[in-house]
Amino acid sequence: MTVDYKLIEFFWARVVKIENGCWIWRGRITGRGYGTIKIGEHGKEILAHRASWMIHTDKPIETGMIVCHKCDTSACVRPDHLFCGTQSDNIKDAINKKRFHQLGVHLPKNNLKTRCPHGHAYDAQNTGVSINPHGAKVRYCRMCHKLRARQQRELAK
Ligand SMILES: [Zn+2]
Ligand SMILES: [Zn+2]
Repeated sequence: MTVDYKLIEFFWARVVKIENGCWIWRGRITGRGYGTIKIGEHGKEILAHRASWMIHTDKPIETGMIVCHKCDTSACVRPDHLFCGTQSDNIKDAINKKRFHQLGVHLPKNNLKTRCPHGHAYDAQNTGVSINPHGAKVRYCRMCHKLRARQQRELAK
């Protein structure tokens, strides 16, 4: 499908911007939660987030490349929530996101938080994994850990 004004018009008529920043597709949604777009009676149906990528980059998607969601919201069509990559990039991304699950890290609800109680980001560098007394793997904030260790050293003086 090529990008033309009809596609662009059709696209914008079906986008709803929600509070968390995602642009949710209000057109048809597939069983897997992806928006689809079809122009005219005999038009080919394509995925809405792929259409969005083409509209915003003004380029067709190369064969074999897939458009993936950074925000993990299948129905989101916001271009900066998308990235274009190969199937293996997509798998890598999914693995990264599921890293904690795969490590067998015990994830209570608040572990989904992206920051520790002191506001440090739970990113790749700052997130440590340790074993708690019950033998479960738990996530901890390296920054807080460091600060605590320093405090203890000061107290020991
Ligand atoms: Zn999004
Ligand atoms: Zn912290």
